[in-house]
Amino acid sequence: MAKQQRNIAVIGAGIAGLACARTLTQAGHRVTVLDKGSTPGGRMASRDTPFGSFDHGAQYFTVRDARFEKTLALTPGLAKRWSANAVRVLDPHGRVAEAALPSGEPHWVCVPTMDALPRHWAAPLVDAGSLDMQTRVTRIERDALDPKRWQLQTSGPQDSVHVYSGFDTVLLAIPHAQAEALLRLSALAPQMQEKLAKVEVAPCWTLMLAFPQAVQPNLTHLGPQWNAALSTHHRIAWLARESSKPGRSPVERWTVQASAAWSQEHLQDDEPRVTAKLQKAFAEVTGIHAEPSFTQVHRWRWAKTLTPLGRSHLWDGKTGLGLCGDWCLGHRAEDAFISGLELALKVHAG
Ligand SMILES: Cc1cc2nc3c(=O)[nH]c(=O)nc-3n(C[C@H](O)[C@H](O)[C@H](O)COP(=O)(O)OP(=O)(O)OC[C@H]3O[C@@H](n4cnc5c(N)ncnc54)[C@H](O)[C@@H]3O)c2cc1C
Repeated sequence: MAKQQRNIAVIGAGIAGLACARTLTQAGHRVTVLDKGSTPGGRMASRDTPFGSFDHGAQYFTVRDARFEKTLALTPGLAKRWSANAVRVLDPHGRVAEAALPSGEPHWVCVPTMDALPRHWAAPLVDAGSLDMQTRVTRIERDALDPKRWQLQTSGPQDSVHVYSGFDTVLLAIPHAQAEALLRLSALAPQMQEKLAKVEVAPCWTLMLAFPQAVQPNLTHLGPQWNAALSTHHRIAWLARESSKPGRSPVERWTVQASAAWSQEHLQDDEPRVTAKLQKAFAEVTGIHAEPSFTQVHRWRWAKTLTPLGRSHLWDGKTGLGLCGDWCLGHRAEDAFISGLELALKVHAG
């Protein structure tokens, strides 16, 4: 049981928000998590299609921190090692060359899809009725009934509005730009806003492709022998064969992530144009010129941190406002976990 039980709102059910919420719940606090999306996980996301799943957000994760390793070990079998057989694809003068990447740290993927991890962490919150999805927080303000506490204005499906009240602590576990906008709109925490203004995060256009013809007899997959590659093609930074990940269905499927520079330059392009351009680049890099049976693109507005905050979280014990997210430390799912965990420990310590 907590020293003093707090009534805490966590805004955002990505890896950071869930790591934060589960830690605070385990410490005995009352926690309510609100997220504007339809399923928990944020950028640790997966999409089901008639041809199989795509991890269109985080592709895999690496484990460097003992606390993350320990937490993952609590659910054996949820994460499996992926033999990505990754290469670096160089394209300096239009001629593609491949170089094996040094065999580095293991690539881990969740089974059956990347969003299995956030779903698993969210399950106790769902069971307790303390996770509300499709709930966008639009304003943080002092509680109308008790000015020492906070209330949150929210909008939900069909523009429904609702006020959540009675919180002594509000933790924002959302991308930095959205946190900055929410604080600005709420006329709160100008010093935190100043710190957020220094963080830089790039967008990422992501293309998903499926080639069901490649599972016909005598043809296991199309194109290259590698399953994942870092690319120097000006349009593409990373591409991976989804069907090569453990626990996935065999239909040949690729996820292609555009480079940060190209994504920024084409941020406002329409989806058909982005699909055509990335599909052409995909053919150049992989040599796969077959027509896919399925294509879809997704635009991540805040995808990859270029300049992090440089500390794991922000916390103001006087007002009870805190911030966490991958952008505090870097651009990896593990950074989000550490950020959420360390904010929770700080809040609990009082
Ligand atoms: C294309 C792509 C590829 C990636 N590849 C990898 C990889 O290979 N390996 C790796 O380790 N990491 C990768 N990452 C990064 C990884 O996904 C993130 O580091 C991690 O998921 C971030 O978690 P988070 O909780 O900080 O933020 P998020 O996952 O963004 O969660 C924030 C949540 O807040 C919600 N939200 C926002 N505003 C509001 C509001 N006003 N009200 C209510 N809810 C709100 C959102 O719906 C979201 O669910 C990738 C990311 C992208 C986009």
